[in-house]
Amino acid sequence: MADHLVRLITRDGTLRAVAAETTLLVEECRHRQQTDPTATVALGRIATAAALMGGLLKGEQRLALIVEGSGPLKRLQAETDAHGRVRATLKVPVADLPPRDGRFDVAGAVGHAGFLHVIKDLGLKEPYRGMVQLATSEIGDDLATYFATSEQIPSSVALGVALDHDMRVTAAGGFLLQLLPGGDPALVEQLEGRLAHLPPPTTLLRQGVAPTAILERLLDGIPTTPLGQIPLEFACSCSRAQVSGVLRLLGAAELDEILAEQGEATVTCDFCKEPYRFEREELEAIRAGLSSPAPSGE
Ligand code: ZN
Repeated sequence: MADHLVRLITRDGTLRAVAAETTLLVEECRHRQQTDPTATVALGRIATAAALMGGLLKGEQRLALIVEGSGPLKRLQAETDAHGRVRATLKVPVADLPPRDGRFDVAGAVGHAGFLHVIKDLGLKEPYRGMVQLATSEIGDDLATYFATSEQIPSSVALGVALDHDMRVTAAGGFLLQLLPGGDPALVEQLEGRLAHLPPPTTLLRQGVAPTAILERLLDGIPTTPLGQIPLEFACSCSRAQVSGVLRLLGAAELDEILAEQGEATVTCDFCKEPYRFEREELEAIRAGLSSPAPSGE
């Protein structure tokens, strides 16, 4: 099934839920970033987490999730909007770690010390910024900690990425449950009991259980109102104009150095890995647009 997310809210308005299948999206991230298996799972989890949170956005709102940890991957980042467009990147694509207890060692790859940052562009003057210390470094738990402490919304987050023997992504997805003000703590207890018995999202997705059906199983017997589906896809917002802006930010001195030494520049987008090549004339035009004088010369 094509990647998508589904959203719903209980009829009494006290619990909202988002579930997503992100298999193709995460496989595309893996392919573009050339990650090793443990890095693929970590990157897939943060991309899925962002996709789920995108289900809570409206209009032109956007958000970024950043995990900075002491592990070999160093920094992972995923971004999304309210239209299901997701992109993700990581600083180091190879964790090079052995499995731990038969599972990919995501926590080891992320590192046990570090932070999860949430940046939301809600169309206000300043973006919203929240941050928590990593709890387990498994990403899902860290996001739940963020919701509980920074947004005061008790949440349950499940994220999963499964790989085949060729280390490609065969299933990825997850769900997010949030107890809203006025919610009944008894409902949380009931759901926790169900969560404990629910197979991981990847097992369900591989069995052909769609995101809607995952939520139906979780919320069986609880009256809900569906809030619609959003298709999910990998999409990068980078452009030549944006990259030339980055070159401009390097400043006159550095541009002069590039012109003298290489005479051209290729800038690769961190997210989609698309290379943007700038010939001498284009670099000179960018350099000419900068007001500060060249450091050498007069
Ligand atoms: Zn890009």
